[in-house]
Amino acid sequence: GTADASPSGTAPTVTYEDIGGLDEELDLVREMIELPLSEPEVFAHLGIDPPKGVLLHGPPGTGKTLIAKAVANEVDATFVDVSGPEIMSKYKGESEEKLREKFQTARENAPAIVFFDEIDSIAGKRDDGGDVENRVVGQLLSLMDGLDARGDVVVIGATNRVDTLDPALRRGGRFDREIEIGVPNEQGRREILEVHTRRMPLAEDVDIERLASRTHGFVGADLESLATEAAMTALRRGRRADVDAPITELEVTRADVEAAMAAVEP
Ligand code: ATP
Repeated sequence: GTADASPSGTAPTVTYEDIGGLDEELDLVREMIELPLSEPEVFAHLGIDPPKGVLLHGPPGTGKTLIAKAVANEVDATFVDVSGPEIMSKYKGESEEKLREKFQTARENAPAIVFFDEIDSIAGKRDDGGDVENRVVGQLLSLMDGLDARGDVVVIGATNRVDTLDPALRRGGRFDREIEIGVPNEQGRREILEVHTRRMPLAEDVDIERLASRTHGFVGADLESLATEAAMTALRRGRRADVDAPITELEVTRADVEAAMAAVEP
């Protein structure tokens, strides 16, 4: 996606328009993440603390990262990306130091979202983990506890195995909200296919609705692959010597989509 092109620390360019399906999930995202960042006074007025941490959980490729980037962009918040491999270090104290730096960047550039992809890889249950893991969980807990209750920094964790997280992380004032991001149904698949074909020259014989009904079990990432593969099939066809049509007349046809269906598995 386009989001990967943006330098870290700036709002990525993903918008809600780039997310197919997930309408109810996005409503929750607006309430739990967007509202505290954009209108913290609403929470102050009602006398409640906005959430500091929200877990997005569900299978890989369903749009968790996409959602986190889209909210950051919509509210013009700084997006601080934290990945497990980047944080985990065998040198004593280095992982905690890196975590503190990430939170520091977020606080200095608030409103901000700190995003942990695959948070289970760095914050598993402390009983099961080694020394580094335990210290990282402890540091993350204290950093979240230290966040201003005002809510201008929200921590989002994405995981497909919510029950492997250290339970202390899911207590009040930490990741105490959860939004399930599931496998899309037919309607969701149709919307996702529409997102990923919206800039493609589709031939008239391509039936997105029918394709949605035939792609049971495909998640967003699979549907994106399917669309890309169909376009690449069209490209290969267009480049073959015997075809003499200008590139501007090249369309992605039903046959290209069928070839992609045979090549892409959920
Ligand atoms: P992982 O756990 O593997 O990180 P994820 O849930 O964070 O998975 P994303 O990284 O958000 O998944 O999705 C991968 C790609 O799949 C996105 O860049 C996007 O192109 C596509 N995609 C996934 N879900 C959707 C969706 N709901 N609408 C549109 N595109 C989607």
